[in-house]
Amino acid sequence: MRVGRFQVEIFSDGIFRLDGGAMFGVVPKVLWEKVKPADELNRVAMDMNCLLIREGDHVVLVETGAGPKLSEKQKRNFGVDGPPRLLVELGARGVRPDDVTLVINTHLHFDHAGGNTFRDGDRVVATFPRASYVFQRLEWLDAISTNERTRGSYLADDFAPLEAAGRLELIDEAVEILPGIRLDRIQGHTRGTQTVRVSDGRETLFFSSDFMPDRHHLPLPWIPSQDLFPLDTLAAKKVILPRAIQEKWLVAFTHDVPRFGRITEEEGRYKFEEVP
Ligand SMILES: [Zn+2]
Repeated sequence: MRVGRFQVEIFSDGIFRLDGGAMFGVVPKVLWEKVKPADELNRVAMDMNCLLIREGDHVVLVETGAGPKLSEKQKRNFGVDGPPRLLVELGARGVRPDDVTLVINTHLHFDHAGGNTFRDGDRVVATFPRASYVFQRLEWLDAISTNERTRGSYLADDFAPLEAAGRLELIDEAVEILPGIRLDRIQGHTRGTQTVRVSDGRETLFFSSDFMPDRHHLPLPWIPSQDLFPLDTLAAKKVILPRAIQEKWLVAFTHDVPRFGRITEEEGRYKFEEVP
């Protein structure tokens, strides 16, 4: 997919599973299971998508999936299938780990930041040794200082070793991290979740982050109960969805099948139409 001068690709690091009730918040199961069937443990299966953006000398990776460090028990608990695909998918596109110049995590939950690092003997080191890793300062602060509610989603080995290695680039609020690549903090899923917009002026690609995990979260009240600030998620959807339609943004989700599409509205219902 081309977005002006940017070459953009989306692929999945693999599948994981979360409780369907938690994924859809106040929406009753009789409604959500019609679009997202649950397994015998009431879990729904989701991709962990990564975005690869190339332009000139810049090789930018957005999200790194669940990564290679999960224990067997963690894999069971999170329903992670098979080995992580991130490096295989990058390799298939001719990208080696030390080609990557910038890693963007929309937030630091294990299913987005797990591939940031890997275990090398008894050390945990950066998977992408030449890259800066960029995320919101608030997300970093909340990830290194968790509470009883947030603890289960953060694994310190995914991000703490990057500080010691001097690879962190912490940002505040809205930043154009490279010409044409914008990061915007949207409080909702966490305080420091950020979305990604790639734009060449005429065309814009929007990567939702977990602020809207997949196409099933387009209806305004469909908000995961994992969100720490669900009413802020609601307010942001009311701003962003009309804008995505009006400006005909290409849209990609973090936990949908790895596809690009456009948002449309028909009789007050938002829909996602895949772009082939
Ligand atoms: Zn996620």
